[in-house]
Amino acid sequence: MTTRIKAICLILLIGSLISCTKAQPDPSEPANEIAEVAPTEPPATATPLPTNTPEPTSTNTPEPTNTPVPTDTPEPTNTPEPTQTPTPTPLPPSDLVSADNCYLPVANFTGVGLGVPRYEGLLQSVGTVNAAVLFVDFEDVPATNRMPEEVFNIVSPSSSDYFSQVSYGRMDLNLQPHLTWLRLSQPSAHYGTAINSFFGHRDFLQEAIDLADAEVDFSTADTVIVMANPDAEALFKGPASQFPVPGQGLFADGVEISSGVTSGNDLLNWGGLWLNHELGHNMTLPDLYAFDGDAGGGWHRFVGPYSLMGLISGSAPELFAIERWQLGWIDDEQITCQTAGEATIALSAIEQPDGIKAHMVPLSRTSMLVVESRLRTGYDSTMVQRGALVYLVDAGNFSGAGPIRVLTHVPSDLMRDSVPLRPGESLTHENVTITVLDENDDGDIIQVTVE
Ligand SMILES: [Zn+2]
Repeated sequence: MTTRIKAICLILLIGSLISCTKAQPDPSEPANEIAEVAPTEPPATATPLPTNTPEPTSTNTPEPTNTPVPTDTPEPTNTPEPTQTPTPTPLPPSDLVSADNCYLPVANFTGVGLGVPRYEGLLQSVGTVNAAVLFVDFEDVPATNRMPEEVFNIVSPSSSDYFSQVSYGRMDLNLQPHLTWLRLSQPSAHYGTAINSFFGHRDFLQEAIDLADAEVDFSTADTVIVMANPDAEALFKGPASQFPVPGQGLFADGVEISSGVTSGNDLLNWGGLWLNHELGHNMTLPDLYAFDGDAGGGWHRFVGPYSLMGLISGSAPELFAIERWQLGWIDDEQITCQTAGEATIALSAIEQPDGIKAHMVPLSRTSMLVVESRLRTGYDSTMVQRGALVYLVDAGNFSGAGPIRVLTHVPSDLMRDSVPLRPGESLTHENVTITVLDENDDGDIIQVTVE
């Protein structure tokens, strides 16, 4: 499939809810596309909303449960002591405030969205996550040449390994395959169209569940992954759907399941990290690539190769610190929050556990500046350059519209490969200046001044 798919985000409000469908063409892999589908309100037809709305036109806004802007709490609850580095002496305490001053409201939620604490009610991200995995084929594209095991092995164990490492051991993705091809009732072309709408995708997932229900116990399933015969080119991309509105989800064995994922033909291009991207959506993470990339601005102009919620096949697919904080993989004590003055922080690189994982400076009710350290290790081992990565987070920006934007001091580097700051380098955004003082095997020592 070579056609690049434009982003389509649908939103409807029925008490709450939204829809979002989009594709992710990858300049380096033009055949690849990814879509996610989230809820909309129930129409009688498969496509409930105007289909070419590039962005949601209305939102439900889960109200922030925490004050997103600084309060009068001057006491730092976390003391960002250098982990391995004796120099320099960290921070005048008065310049840091407790981490809850850097909480972000979930401002624009379309079934996905940034915000700390995260929107609850979707797939959990901590502890054991049970995923029932089903396999489907079609009368016009029977899976005569593939065993279910072969398709399953594309995502297992790599997807579970990724979450285990990137969550620092806090998430255990337990894939439970039902290794039988289930024959769906309609031709592949029918589903290739249907799964791009919220209810069409939900019905597709439910049909697969119903076919397996006699042999599969779904009562402990947290999510459902349906792997279509990847030779069915009509299903050229794999969507994820979230069902936060009770009654609109998937039903089996007396439980309602609040999310689901389908793999398509593009699975063969992306490999196992595709599933991590889609389950990231099920756990509320938004897309970080630009939905309007084909308009000339570039698909990956917001975050370049960082985080697989941007470019799955990028050189630095480890999730950002803000994403891990949202998912509960980083504690408040591992965040330093600064609202004024000057601070010196020893950042421990996000690819390894423990230590201070991010330094944050609130900019507005929904936005802040974040600094994290990246090392060429773990899933980032092919990253071009290590260093301190500086980015803006705006929870008011929709999925695909830049909720995270990596800042650069190298404007000519459109892919952001060389933007991590090295010792002696500095970057200023509005009233905030970040300077890297030193680096070591654990990460970077940064100095941050808020004028
Ligand atoms: Zn996506």
